[in-house]
Amino acid sequence: MAQFDCMVCGREFKSYNQNAKYCSQTCKGTAYIKYQWKKCEHCGKEFKPRKASSKYCSLECSNIGRKNKAANKQADCIGVPFE
Ligand SMILES: [Zn+2]
Ligand SMILES: [Zn+2]
Repeated sequence: MAQFDCMVCGREFKSYNQNAKYCSQTCKGTAYIKYQWKKCEHCGKEFKPRKASSKYCSLECSNIGRKNKAANKQADCIGVPFE
């Protein structure tokens, strides 16, 4: 059991979860509203975006995610042959 500081209210709390950030569900909900935590579109990890339009947790995920999207777009274009 490790001790953490809640990222919202700053209260100390204990959790078995090594990635614990919040002391309660209420604080977790507040964090989502206050800090707009998002889920990375590539790896699904929760992150705090620097811009409202950010979709990825890191530059790595951003690069991979964009590449995948570009690949999908290309596949769509080639997918239906014109006859
Ligand atoms: Zn809290
Ligand atoms: Zn990611």
